Amino acid sequence: MIRSLLMITLAITLQQCSYSQNNSSKNNTTNMDSTKKNNPVYSNTDTSEVKMNNEEWKKILPDEVYYIARMKGTERPWTSKFENFHEKGTYYCAACGNPLFKSDTKFESGCGWPSFYEPVSKTSLINTPDHSHGMVRTEVQCGRCKAHLGHVFNDGPPPTGLRYCINGVILDFTKAKDAEKKYTEENKQKPEN
Ligand SMILES: [Zn+2]
Repeated sequence: MIRSLLMITLAITLQQCSYSQNNSSKNNTTNMDSTKKNNPVYSNTDTSEVKMNNEEWKKILPDEVYYIARMKGTERPWTSKFENFHEKGTYYCAACGNPLFKSDTKFESGCGWPSFYEPVSKTSLINTPDHSHGMVRTEVQCGRCKAHLGHVFNDGPPPTGLRYCINGVILDFTKAKDAEKKYTEENKQKPEN
C-alpha cells in the first residue's frame, strides 16, 4: 500500500517537474504569492530554526524552489531575473523568508548567477564543504531552514574577497522601504510642479 502510494506520488512529481519547467517563467509571480500563503514557516523576522522533512517541504514549495532548496539543484546560468537587477532592497530565502543579502553587496560577477560579496549577517548562511561533481567547493545554505542556495568562492571583490554565487530561484526580493517612500514622495510632488 505504502509502496503504491509512493509510486503515485513519484509519478505526480515527475509530471509537475516537466510542467513547471515549461511554464516557470510565466508562473513565477503566482507561485511566489501562493508559496507565502501556504507556507506556515515563511517569515522575514522569525529567526528560529526551521526543521521540516522533504515531504513537508514538497507540499508548500513551488517545484522549481523545491528542486534548488531541497534537491540541491542548480538553475541554468543567465536565466535568473535577478542576474541583471539593480533595485535597492533585501534578498530573502524563498523557502523560509530569512534575510540573506542586501542589494548593496550585489555585484556583476559575470558567472551567470546573482552574486554577492557579503551576507546580511554571520548567521544568515551556513557554509558546508561540497565534494560533488569532482570539485572541492563550499556549499551555501540558508542559516534558518538549510535550503541549498548556491556556492561561495574566494575570488570576489573587496572588502570580503568572497563571491556568493546564488540561484535566483531561491531568492525573494523586497524593495527597500526608503526607496519606496522616496518614490511615493516624488510622485506626490509631480502634480504641483
Ligand atoms: Zn531559508
